[in-house]
Amino acid sequence: MKIAVLPGDGIGTEIVAEAVKVLDTLDLKFEMETALVGGAAYEAHGHPLPESTLKLAMAADAVLFGAVGDWKYDKLDRPLRPEQAILGLRKHMGLFANFRPAICYPELVGASSLKPEVISGLDILIIRELTGDIYFGQPRGRRTAVDGHFPGAEEAFDTMRYSKPEIERIAHVAFQAARKRNKKVTSVDKANVLETFQFWKDVVTEVHAQYPDVELEHMYVDNAAMQLVRAPKKFDVVVTGNMFGDILSDEASMLTGSIGMLPSASLNTKSQGLYEPSHGSAPDIAGQGIANPLATILSAAMMLRFSLNQPEAAARIESAVGSVLASGLRTADIWSPGTTKVSTRDMGDAVVAAITKTIKG
Ligand code: NAD
Repeated sequence: MKIAVLPGDGIGTEIVAEAVKVLDTLDLKFEMETALVGGAAYEAHGHPLPESTLKLAMAADAVLFGAVGDWKYDKLDRPLRPEQAILGLRKHMGLFANFRPAICYPELVGASSLKPEVISGLDILIIRELTGDIYFGQPRGRRTAVDGHFPGAEEAFDTMRYSKPEIERIAHVAFQAARKRNKKVTSVDKANVLETFQFWKDVVTEVHAQYPDVELEHMYVDNAAMQLVRAPKKFDVVVTGNMFGDILSDEASMLTGSIGMLPSASLNTKSQGLYEPSHGSAPDIAGQGIANPLATILSAAMMLRFSLNQPEAAARIESAVGSVLASGLRTADIWSPGTTKVSTRDMGDAVVAAITKTIKG
């Protein structure tokens, strides 16, 4: 099992070190190789995704990714910015399905900004399509308007588009995921206004015919944004496009208490995947040893389950995280009175100790 380890920038190096420590504790044989990505790679090689890093990622069964970015790179040309490394990896590895499970651990019910009864027991899965939508559609750019409300004015434009096979494959992923859970898919669109999302709705409905055991509901994105904070437990699997998924999955992260708790997986058709926390490089707290490593550790668990076919090891990590939280240890982002504040490294050590206990036990 070959894992490419790409820590990246900011807190990326701190949190990935803890996830690697956790993987090393398991009685499994991994070949792990580390490479630079993002701003760190730009500093060393002049590019955020050097050829050598890309080659390593492509040859691996899975990529464990930290985070990239720093405000100091904001003035670079867009292709050289750290964030381009993620887009490059998604493109070259053919990653099209982004899984973000939002689970509220009982011990963190108080850390969420929502009422306990709204989020306790929450376990939903957001599946975001990654290859299409307005993020990649051509043409795009700036020009002088020839029509509209201000002809002759400077304007910018993007193109929203989805092909039928793109929608079909993400719909299949969502229905299959729902079959292993509570058998309900909510497809989020804006079919009342956008042609692209009327098409999305039609294609998802067509694919649904192959999954009669799974319930399908359609929901407009504005309503979905509201329902996610009003009654999130009504959802099971949510499937949506690239842009709506980007926004809704960050909204869902706050249901779990902190963005530092939310793992993610991006998969291609061969189950090769990129696993990363849902948060960024957090330059505001980088180097202080206070970042929460649990989203990255839980991403490593997803890696074991989805790409490395080690579901038992994944469950061992997840239950270790649960027992560490139950013991009252918290990083600063999830700390509340009556619990014990620990550093990034202490939190990683505690998860390692909990796993070691189950192996010995
Ligand atoms: P961010 O997710 O890095 O941080 C948002 C807030 O959450 C900050 O206050 C931060 O301290 C906190 N936070 C994030 N992760 C945490 C953790 N594990 N533990 C405790 N607190 C945590 O988002 P941002 O500030 O908007 O972006 C910072 C940089 O990260 C930017 O350069 C952005 O482009 C980049 N970014 C990268 C990725 C990625 O690598 N996949 C994703 C999002 C943003």
